Amino acid sequence: MTSAGTHIPVDPVTAGLREIRERLGRITDGEVANYIPELARADPDAFGIAVVSMSGHRYLAGDTDVAFSIQSVSKPFVYALALADLGLDAVLRRVNAEPSGEAYNAISLEPGTGRPANPMVNAGAIVTTSLIVAPDAAARFERIRACLSAFAGRDLDVDEQVYASEAATGDRNRALAYLMRGAGSLVGDVHEIVETYFRQCSVRVTAADLAVMAATLANGGVNPLTGVTVIQEPVAVQVLALMATCGLYDEAGAWLLRAGLPAKSGVSGGLIAASPARLGIAVYSPPLDVAGNSVRGVKALTEASERFALHLMHRPLQQTLTVTDRSTAREHPSARPRDAAATAILRRDGRRIAIVSAQGTLEFTETERLLNEVRTALPPAPGWLVLDLERVTHVAKGAAAMLGATLGDLVRSGYEVAVTAQESMAKEAHRDGDTWTVFAGREQAVAWCEDRLLAGRG
Ligand code: GLN
Repeated sequence: MTSAGTHIPVDPVTAGLREIRERLGRITDGEVANYIPELARADPDAFGIAVVSMSGHRYLAGDTDVAFSIQSVSKPFVYALALADLGLDAVLRRVNAEPSGEAYNAISLEPGTGRPANPMVNAGAIVTTSLIVAPDAAARFERIRACLSAFAGRDLDVDEQVYASEAATGDRNRALAYLMRGAGSLVGDVHEIVETYFRQCSVRVTAADLAVMAATLANGGVNPLTGVTVIQEPVAVQVLALMATCGLYDEAGAWLLRAGLPAKSGVSGGLIAASPARLGIAVYSPPLDVAGNSVRGVKALTEASERFALHLMHRPLQQTLTVTDRSTAREHPSARPRDAAATAILRRDGRRIAIVSAQGTLEFTETERLLNEVRTALPPAPGWLVLDLERVTHVAKGAAAMLGATLGDLVRSGYEVAVTAQESMAKEAHRDGDTWTVFAGREQAVAWCEDRLLAGRG
């Protein structure tokens, strides 16, 4: 307990990150990459963990503002750009999406076609870079740099020393590129493409930047700090799926099993993971395991995932839908003035107008439950349904389709359906040709059904 005014206690996210960092900081396993000579100069003790939430809040522990070259962590973001340029089918024809189970620099090429296994290994990333639409190499790199910057929410630059160092020693990647061009899977000027790829890998970031980038993927492509839509939501989903299956090279399977998050590592010691709709998280710690993944990074993110219960396969909390009323117009008539005869009819037949009111959000599970409630509430046909969804705050795409289809079926089966909903939601569910009616409020919807019932009697 702290007494008021002395200091504000640290928030639980920062506290968690600090605790993980403190403990894992003692680990001294792993080797700093040295096949790119400039990378060997990294401080093996540098260790930072950063989280960015969907509200754009940052949580930082340790060396989160130390700059390093992004390396392979660039791959998912450039893949996003390629998907945005060409669409998934065209990109898949050039770069497959199967985990290779091999090292990042392996010759993971399809026999016959030379198509690389996935965009997260070097071969696939080199082809991905070549796919970015631009008039020349300089413009292509500028698009890549601008894209990475938009993901990070600030203007990123190139670490020229790292670039020169990789360009001077990058024969393995050049060899891979020539192999692919020989096989026909890489098209264009090999030298230019590989140099662009090296520059892309040399873009300078911090762990704090990487957390924003991961958070942007977790947020459906909208940068939670700047509010900028960097990529469309379907592209973010595709990139995250690729990261889940291929992000950690030959450790990808065990990673998904333990940490359960889409992730991507790089040889400079960066590692990111994204928890959809929750957060982006990044670690910087240069010593690598034999697969080329940051030793402390893998451990830190696995622990963070456990601590904050982020595993993708967790059963999510539902219960966000409450059915607040299931009645009929007999118990809850409208306030519209009626003469004695009409009032008598409504008192007798009011139960032919079912009323279901709900509040909350509608995804698959909630919609399924709501539609079961509707089924139970319905009178025998012909009859009326007032579906009062005014206090439903959000409806997922699939849920809107389920709802729309059911209401259409009811109309075809002899029911008249009156819906109240917030405008955006009504639009989402309502399709041209639908014969159910949207009302501004529950009172009007009930009154309309009553009028229709009485007219039928008339
Ligand atoms: N630029 C590095 C390379 O191509 C990237 C590899 C990595 O980060 N895994 O070798």
